Amino acid sequence: MSNKVDPNLMKELSEFGLKDAYKCYHCGNCTAVCPLSTPENQFPRKFVRYMQLGQRDKILTSPEPWLCYYCGTCSDVCPRGAEPGETMMVARRWLTSQYDWTGFARKFYTSEKFEIMAITVVAVLVGIGLLIFNTGNPNWDHAHLNSVWPSDKIELADLGMAAILSFLLLSNVFRCYKVVMGDMATKIPLRVYGSQLKELIIHVLTQKRFGKCEDRMQWFVHLMIMTGYSSVFLLVVVLINGLTFENLKFQRDLPEYALWHPIRLVGYYATFAIMYGTTYAIIGRLRKSKSVYKYSHPTDWMFLILLQLTTMTGIFIHFTRLLDWPFPTYALYVIHMMVAVPMLVLEVPFAKWAHLAYRPFVIFLLKVKEQYAKEQAAVKVPSVALAD
Ligand code: SF4
Ligand code: SF4
Repeated sequence: MSNKVDPNLMKELSEFGLKDAYKCYHCGNCTAVCPLSTPENQFPRKFVRYMQLGQRDKILTSPEPWLCYYCGTCSDVCPRGAEPGETMMVARRWLTSQYDWTGFARKFYTSEKFEIMAITVVAVLVGIGLLIFNTGNPNWDHAHLNSVWPSDKIELADLGMAAILSFLLLSNVFRCYKVVMGDMATKIPLRVYGSQLKELIIHVLTQKRFGKCEDRMQWFVHLMIMTGYSSVFLLVVVLINGLTFENLKFQRDLPEYALWHPIRLVGYYATFAIMYGTTYAIIGRLRKSKSVYKYSHPTDWMFLILLQLTTMTGIFIHFTRLLDWPFPTYALYVIHMMVAVPMLVLEVPFAKWAHLAYRPFVIFLLKVKEQYAKEQAAVKVPSVALAD
């Protein structure tokens, strides 16, 4: 790893939203109060220092930005208003752009115009695609989505989208793996990775480290949004049609499920969780009610707005179908897809949603390193004893 100083780093980071890090005089209060900082992995002060010194390689190879959940406690105690919590957030945006080989993430984070344009272009293409590719024989007597866009075709499109999205995200996750692990990447046997997989699953599902922060409400809101959109992904991509048991398909036009049916319950949970979480975050950002909501990057707004619009159009479709109104159902479906598809193909691999993958993955890598170090220490102890 090079220790070369980059005098332009602060300027570059300002394009990702860095504002007040230059004010820091390194009192260390922020690291002292951070509930997630440990002697082995200290933050956030260290990162403010790296930024001030232009040490880009140190930031690039550090796992710590992904250990921070942005609870805001550090910013609350900073006597200089240097916003260490926001600084960690900026580090995550910058890292996301560094892992991404396509260059899209950088463009997203540094140009509001580009982000809006990219989303508009994809939305228009989806709208045109749905208008061109349909059966040409819609049922105008009943709201019957399959009569316009059959489920098997939509399923194919969903799977294609999931494949592209997974390729982009996983290739970037692999680059993250290479920089975080460095030389260790080739030394640690696969068996050790396997032994820590449980940690990966736990952190993806529960975000349990966030629970250690003082502001438990932030953890709850985060968990609601995350479990909400993971449930939607499960319904739309995995359960839509043909991939699972007949009675668990998320078919759009099957006879209505009973109120207690698992598919219906998962759908209602997802709707409630996303609407609750996004509304709380939008109100917080509008009111700037706590330090974590004081600064809003355009990508923060885009994430919340697209997620909320997708959910709201989904709710409207649910009701127009129940009311059996064909035209509003078909029109709303087109709008719903024009919002949902750009959100999935652009936000997941390149913007805020990527955190969903990087954070638990980096925590998992640290556990792997820890386990490997423990095993190495256990091997060394007897040999030292023998030498004595
Ligand atoms: S960011 Fe603030 S609290 Fe942290 S070391 Fe700098 S001045 Fe102190
Ligand atoms: S925002 Fe919270 S988790 Fe992140 S560095 Fe500050 S105190 Fe720690």
